[in-house]
Amino acid sequence: MNVDPSEVQKFSDLAHRWWDPTSEFRPLHEINPLRLEWINARAPLKGKRVLDIGCGGGILAESMARKGAEVTGIDLSDKALKVADLHSLETGVQVRYELVAAEDMAAREPSGFDVVTCMEMLEHVPDPEAIVHACATLVRPGGHVFFSTINRNPKSYLFAVIGAEYVLKMLPKGTHDYAKFIKPAELARYTRHAGLDLDAVKGLTYNPLTKMYSLNQDTDVNYLMACQRPA
Ligand code: SAH
Repeated sequence: MNVDPSEVQKFSDLAHRWWDPTSEFRPLHEINPLRLEWINARAPLKGKRVLDIGCGGGILAESMARKGAEVTGIDLSDKALKVADLHSLETGVQVRYELVAAEDMAAREPSGFDVVTCMEMLEHVPDPEAIVHACATLVRPGGHVFFSTINRNPKSYLFAVIGAEYVLKMLPKGTHDYAKFIKPAELARYTRHAGLDLDAVKGLTYNPLTKMYSLNQDTDVNYLMACQRPA
């Protein structure tokens, strides 16, 4: 199976703090409005069937459901999914969560979704290209797929590993493995091989002085990619 159990364990160990905006998950809370609005602008979510792959505790999944989408969140961390489920019970925002691999979901529900999202997850799996292929199978013709991950170059090592984990201590040490980072050209190649059309790429940067994130053209470290399955 296309999963690194030690990667999933890292998230399971912290899962009880997923919805604490001051916890290790603070960056996900802070970037969420930016990525949500970007997704919603490109593929208006109201009424859409959406699949969130590697949903974790459900920060993005729940926010997309709040926009009126019918959201399914899948992950391989049982603990994260339990936290996600509990949170959706508390807020009353309905999301269907399930422990299933993306590839298995693709075999079960091909073309089953208008929108597929896979955020901050590809850099934690052994074979990211297989996940991209699963996404392309899961989305209906004409539907949208959104990815986000971390670029691989000396600057991303400095910012995403040394800066975030050792200097600013925003993330626990060992959160990210530099070797698994993915260059935009590599991700673009995976999407092309999977038969997706590349629509747009956006950079996501963090300013440690203002402590603010922003979406822009700087894809050196964190970036997002929007694709579409040809109709
Ligand atoms: N996508 C969410 C969470 C990102 S954290 C967000 O951006 O807010 C990364 C998540 O990927 C964790 O929940 C982890 O359990 C999950 N994950 C890691 N490997 C996975 C795999 N092979 N299949 C599914 N989920 C995986």
